Amino acid sequence: MIKFLDLHKQYESIKDEIDRAIFNVITDTAFIKGKYVREFEENFAHKIGIKHCIGVGNGTDAIYITLKMMGVGVGDEVIVPANSWISSSEAVSLTGAKPIFVDIEEDFFTINPDLIEQKITDKTKVIMPVHLFGQSCEMDRIMLIARKHNLFVLEDCAQSHFSKYNEEYVGTFGDAAIFSFYPGKNLGAYGDAGAIITDNDDLAEKCRMFANHGSLTKHQHRIEGINSRLDGLQAAILNIKLNHIDKWNSQRREIARVYNKLIKDKEDIVTPKERDNSYHTYHLYVIRSINRKSFRTKLKDKGIETQIHYPMPIPFLKPYHYQNNKPEDFPIAWRYKDEILSLPVYAELVKNELISTYKRLK
Ligand SMILES: *Cc1c(COP(=O)(O)O)cnc(C)c1O
Repeated sequence: MIKFLDLHKQYESIKDEIDRAIFNVITDTAFIKGKYVREFEENFAHKIGIKHCIGVGNGTDAIYITLKMMGVGVGDEVIVPANSWISSSEAVSLTGAKPIFVDIEEDFFTINPDLIEQKITDKTKVIMPVHLFGQSCEMDRIMLIARKHNLFVLEDCAQSHFSKYNEEYVGTFGDAAIFSFYPGKNLGAYGDAGAIITDNDDLAEKCRMFANHGSLTKHQHRIEGINSRLDGLQAAILNIKLNHIDKWNSQRREIARVYNKLIKDKEDIVTPKERDNSYHTYHLYVIRSINRKSFRTKLKDKGIETQIHYPMPIPFLKPYHYQNNKPEDFPIAWRYKDEILSLPVYAELVKNELISTYKRLK
């Protein structure tokens, strides 16, 4: 049996460290804000090489907070990819703005830079590239377009902790970036958690204030905000895991290489490509096959769990029916929804078990 994800295996590998960290937070009653949150914010920012990290409640809040503090609201438009998790467009709508969808690249599942400019209007405020599955977006081209049209760029790095594009970490190209530490992400907490990173002092201060009831100093509320904070327990857990993430990411890449070899001879399967000069961190290993159904059944029969990310491109989900989006406007995302399949990929997967199970596939 090969589970799609096994978070308990990871816990077992770092149990002593984690248990001690949790015990310390409780002993210090550092539940909200406090030293463990500060420590994680500093460590995370330092590792990425950026000035500010603001811990928040989850990745979706991180997008909402950042967009709001970029001044996005009613009447504005934000450009998002057609294939992503719903947070990218949901958070846009929450600000009162409208998500404008762009189809994905044929090779990489990420927003197609060739199609962005035709979607820019005088209402556009932000471009939101999503580094999907651990693959980086084409940031050079996206930044050129954004600068030419004077738009903000908010990078969604929820699936790409420490992925690289041109030797630099994703999240350092745009005006700000967001992370999710949902338990199943490459760097995952033991509950909901998220963060915003930026080099912009003013934006950082605004985000921190808005996420904490509009206040930076107790009882001094400068604006109305929300309550979305990273809590001490999650921060302490993330501090421990941050020391392991590079190793875990490279183990994910190793599993991806194993798959590439195992699957390469099966002619109806397209294995994931890596962008040149990038470091793909394989949050998901997504193949395409016109015979997905039969391949999926074969895997299931050998006890290998698979999933589909995502069964329906966002422009066609019910909340966006008002936009009247047509399949021919998003031909790649529309075609891929019937071909994509995510195979198990995580650091604790046992290579030999994987290889012997696949060898038994007929
Ligand atoms: C997980 C995810 C989010 C949201 O994260 P939560 O912490 O679950 O709110 C946003 N964008 C993408 C692409 C994600 O995969």
